Amino acid sequence: MQAELLIHAPWILPVDAADSQLDDHAIAVSEGRIQALLPSTEARASIEAQREIELPGHVLIPGLINAHTHAAMSLMRGLADDLPLMTWLHEHIWPAEQRWVDPAFVGDGTRLAVLEMLRGGVTCYNDMYFHPEVSAQVTAEAGMRAVIGMIVIDFPTGYAADADGYIAKGLALHERYRDHPLIQVAFAPHSPYTVSDTPLSRVRTLADQLEIPIHIHVHETRDEVTQSLRDHGQRPLARLDGLGLLDPALLAVHMTQLEDAEIERLAATGAHVVHCPESNLKLASGFCPLARLLDAGVNVALGTDGAASNNDLSMLGEMRTAALLAKGVSGSAAAVPASAALRMATINGARALGLDDEIGSLETGKAADIVAIDLGDAHTQPVYHPTSQLVYAASSHQVRQVWINGRQVLRDGAPTLIDTADTFARARTWGERLAASD
Ligand SMILES: [Zn+2]
Repeated sequence: MQAELLIHAPWILPVDAADSQLDDHAIAVSEGRIQALLPSTEARASIEAQREIELPGHVLIPGLINAHTHAAMSLMRGLADDLPLMTWLHEHIWPAEQRWVDPAFVGDGTRLAVLEMLRGGVTCYNDMYFHPEVSAQVTAEAGMRAVIGMIVIDFPTGYAADADGYIAKGLALHERYRDHPLIQVAFAPHSPYTVSDTPLSRVRTLADQLEIPIHIHVHETRDEVTQSLRDHGQRPLARLDGLGLLDPALLAVHMTQLEDAEIERLAATGAHVVHCPESNLKLASGFCPLARLLDAGVNVALGTDGAASNNDLSMLGEMRTAALLAKGVSGSAAAVPASAALRMATINGARALGLDDEIGSLETGKAADIVAIDLGDAHTQPVYHPTSQLVYAASSHQVRQVWINGRQVLRDGAPTLIDTADTFARARTWGERLAASD
């Protein structure tokens, strides 16, 4: 058999249905896809590869999927910390956005975020931000995969004047990326408290026609629920349900406030939850009942949220926090084991985005989105269980090689398609501008 690329490693975690661990195996890649997974000895005997790579001490995993972020907000990392959500939003983030967010800001911020995510083993992210056509372009140029949100919000910004304006711009973006190999487009109405019923209903209808997901913040805080009860006489999730939004196309982000009946309703409708534990902790938003959601059969993916509320875009860190927090919140050390955290950061994210036929696991026929992590460092030795080292001990600097659609986008820890020095210089310039006006 011929292959373009053959990668050998002592451990492969394919994140298949059986949570297998393959020791001393190889992955053969051709035309951007996984051609075979087989023992290295067999691969050496039977496969003639154009390029063969040995990665001793490394574990190979599917590319991590960051199921909720605002990539360009990387330029607001550390601008305003240690503040309650509404103070943080109203007094710092929204004023900075009104003053500074334009296509140049989104381009430079997204490039910094893409660089950070690739270095952390993230191969696909689900974004929600202004000027998404710029995010899409920057991401495609870096060889990265993304689901870019068509943001919808009631109030005017530098990007659009009203909900119809946002939707019109989003539809043009969708049309432009219709058959792109890396970029998909989804609806991203900001939240039930910033988008009224009419545009939400329109999003529902259009998402059905285009067969794309709807990505929205829901039940981020207790105040959001209280305000909805006052203004609409119902909880935000019930309001979305009434508008027909609860179905397998929905990605409900945060969900820190959940009653038993709501968990049952999510499970029954097939809606997905995106858990963002570090953002919820930092903004003291509350605790998503992760173990109960998983027990009920709800598909839960994992996201970092924006870098202004995390403050990094590390999915390795997010997996660890999710697994640890779930134990604390549920009172059970058995809750959300390492393998479940890894599933949330890979296949569950793919499923939530409707991309599980393509990505989320290392299986024959799927896209070759592959991450190699070097476990040969002090804090990941010795290796009893690679999944455990990955979730409970590894950090982003151990991510050494990343392939997306079979193309190498990170080599020996450095991006192959992004100018790192230029990206950092631009970030510093924006930092000086924002600091002067905050
Ligand atoms: Zn968010």
